[in-house]
Amino acid sequence: AQAERMQALEPKIQAFVTPTVDKALEQAALVDAKIVAGEAIGPLEGVPMAIKDNMCTDGVRTTCSSKILENFVPPYDATVVTKLKEAGAIMMGKTNLDEFAMGSSTENSGFFTTRNPWDTERVPGGSSGGSAASVAAGQAVFSLGSDTGGSIRQPAAFCGVVGLKPTYGAVSRFGLIAFASSLDQIGPFTRDVRDCALVMNAIAGHDAKDSTSAPVDFPDYTSLLGKSIKGWRVGLPKEYFGDGIDPEVRAVIEKAVKTIESLGAEVAECSLPHTEYALPVYYLLAPAEASSNLARYDGVRYGYRSESADDLISMFKKTRAEGFGDEVKRRIMLGTYALSSGYYDAYYLKALKVRTLIKNDFDQAFEKFDCILSPTTPSVAFKFGDRTDNPLQMYLSDVFTLSVNLAGIPGLSINAGFANGMPVGLQIIGKAFDEARLLQIAHAYE
Ligand code: GLN
Repeated sequence: AQAERMQALEPKIQAFVTPTVDKALEQAALVDAKIVAGEAIGPLEGVPMAIKDNMCTDGVRTTCSSKILENFVPPYDATVVTKLKEAGAIMMGKTNLDEFAMGSSTENSGFFTTRNPWDTERVPGGSSGGSAASVAAGQAVFSLGSDTGGSIRQPAAFCGVVGLKPTYGAVSRFGLIAFASSLDQIGPFTRDVRDCALVMNAIAGHDAKDSTSAPVDFPDYTSLLGKSIKGWRVGLPKEYFGDGIDPEVRAVIEKAVKTIESLGAEVAECSLPHTEYALPVYYLLAPAEASSNLARYDGVRYGYRSESADDLISMFKKTRAEGFGDEVKRRIMLGTYALSSGYYDAYYLKALKVRTLIKNDFDQAFEKFDCILSPTTPSVAFKFGDRTDNPLQMYLSDVFTLSVNLAGIPGLSINAGFANGMPVGLQIIGKAFDEARLLQIAHAYE
């Protein structure tokens, strides 16, 4: 039934770059056989999932929605994929994204755009737009996305589902195709908070294959669900409630805050004074790291190679000119500039220093508060084409999510209600490795 639903909706939503329904049906038959035989089953046995197409899948094409990787078939699974297979989940396909996860609407995909299931004239958000849309449309029970500056939380908000960006180092990045390595983190999209906790139980944990994976004890993420949040101190950063928010979004968030208060939490204003620098800092650091990570696509090692080249240098140039889309090229140029000698100190190094100030803001706030609430995005999902002519407009879609990646802390987006028929996301931010408590407050609210 799940396969039928997925295929019936796909022409409308276009969430999948590579569907793997045939394989999924074969696996589902094996699950049935297992159950009939009375064999032990995994915690996610038979559960249909979708995986963002920037995570490597053994024998299944992994494109990053880029022409440069259009025919790349990895010979191994990302650690998250291995873990989910072990837990019994079944992959329905690989989902669409903004090329190399650079964007906020999935309009930068090198192949096609994905539509928002709530209104197919609107974007699903991005960059994990396919993953968010597939869960919102019920094409999969859960999916994985990656979040470098908001790419899980923002599409979760736009599609009305739960999206968690875990603490940096909580989920292995082995097999995730790198965008900005110091910011990238994998996390789940689900319909409700309990499912999110269950997927986290399957994917979180130390991995020797990722040197930035944290060697800490990981909790049972369901353990605090259902517990009261009475007496919690909840901060509302004044910098996130300024002029930039749509009035309809503000109204929904204010109502959600009242509900949280009525559950026994003490809500007070707080301050994250360096918030205004998050966008410029992110757009120096993320492109700098991307320009370095994307140097490997040279026509020799992976994927596409230009056919019209006549020597080595022209092969590099033509392969990259033909293989990468405009936004990826823009990032490579911005990043190369910020890292070049003469500008490195003024841009890259300065941005690193301000990144520390942004992290310190959060450390100070968490001395007084258990968690921080904000809107996930300043507006609801916008219409196709609304922001494609103006990159800065597009970048502003993530003003409320970027700081969390710069600080390496977890952020969760849950649906807080609707404005003009479109979902509005509430962002809950916590201290490092405090995901179980973020899920607790989200569950109490839900
Ligand atoms: N929209 C942001 C960008 O374009 C964030 C993307 C992401 O989190 N992968 O870089």
